[in-house]
Amino acid sequence: MYNISQRVQSLQPSATLAMSQKSAELRAAGVDVINMSIGEPDFNTPEHIKEAAKRAIDENYTHYAPVPGYLSLRKVICENLKRNSGMEFTPEQIVVGNGAKHELANVVMSLINPGDEVLIPVPAWVSYVEIVKIACGVPVTVFTGIDNDFKIQPEALRAALTPRTRLLMLNSPSNPTGSIYSAEELEALAAVLRDFPDVVVLSDEIYEHIVFDGKKVSSIYHCEGMKDRTVIINGVSKAYAMTGWRIGYTAAPTAITKAVSKLQGQYTSGVSSIAMKAAEAAYDGPQECVETMRREFERRRDLVLELAAQIPGWKINRPEGAFYLFPDISQLLGKRFGDREIRDDNDYAMYLLEEAHVATVKGSAFSAPGYIRLSYATSEDNIREAMRRIRVATEALK
Ligand code: PMP
Ligand code: GLU
Repeated sequence: MYNISQRVQSLQPSATLAMSQKSAELRAAGVDVINMSIGEPDFNTPEHIKEAAKRAIDENYTHYAPVPGYLSLRKVICENLKRNSGMEFTPEQIVVGNGAKHELANVVMSLINPGDEVLIPVPAWVSYVEIVKIACGVPVTVFTGIDNDFKIQPEALRAALTPRTRLLMLNSPSNPTGSIYSAEELEALAAVLRDFPDVVVLSDEIYEHIVFDGKKVSSIYHCEGMKDRTVIINGVSKAYAMTGWRIGYTAAPTAITKAVSKLQGQYTSGVSSIAMKAAEAAYDGPQECVETMRREFERRRDLVLELAAQIPGWKINRPEGAFYLFPDISQLLGKRFGDREIRDDNDYAMYLLEEAHVATVKGSAFSAPGYIRLSYATSEDNIREAMRRIRVATEALK
């Protein structure tokens, strides 16, 4: 009866949010489901950040805020980028949005004309391909594979670039694989990109603080010739356990932030005044909370790897950051449990949900059929019990 637009009809729903919703519904119905689907820190937002939000209400930060965000917040973001990553941005080069997802969408909408190609090394986070589709761009996915630790190789990048390529979407540390590009690997990609001067790189650095084994994250921003063509996406969701506050940002050359700000001015206005004051406290306040959570994620990574090694039919890489495990489960395809056949990764994820009561996400949602994703941003007890259930259910497949 209603004429739903082609644009929306062609979209896939967000599988991460859908699976998490499904697991919440099962829990509400009394099923003891362990949710390893959604990627969000299980910690509460640190107290000093919550206090800043309460203060913001009392101090009447309740009016429309500037479209790109409060200047005070954009200043502390610049200081933070300088301190953490040695990046030079001015407040005019920052736009604050409703989470990193909003800023990703704003950047793609601002840079992509219908028919423009956007290169996405996959597996990639569920929303990348769909956001490009919303902008009527053409997502060009390049499969990277577990044997390359899911990182795009320079020759594969060169082969995929065409005169219509406008954007390359990079995400390091990666959701869903936990892989991190080293400075040398980024330099090798930048060397290829120097032959394609019209391509902008969107560098999604939302997991920059969640890195393990003493690794340092690098950014393609620092590679020769890349400063003027790199757009950084980041935010408070993961580092400060603030997923519900919905604050992320774009840091980019001024022409791009001007465009993003113009779009935002017609589409959403400036984002929540109170959440922005909380984000300001996050960036400006004590940073120990970030390290405390990082250490905990590293402990859980070690645990999940140890337990995953006992599951038959899983091939795994060693995640170096973020909080996801992305096993290749293709050896299990074709196996059965009674009259239930595991034909693909969706069947396996549904089998784990219904028989083991563990929610995961099918790899095909990340453009990687034959894999599943588990988020280990949950307690040690949950991880132990979930991995035990998965092992028992997987051993039962014949
Ligand atoms: N980028 C990546 C790689 C993510 O995993 C996520 C998921 N949260 C986002 C962006 C979006 O973050 P936010 O919740 O701040 O919108
Ligand atoms: N990024 C997280 C995830 O991948 C949160 C959910 C979402 O926004 O997709 O699970």
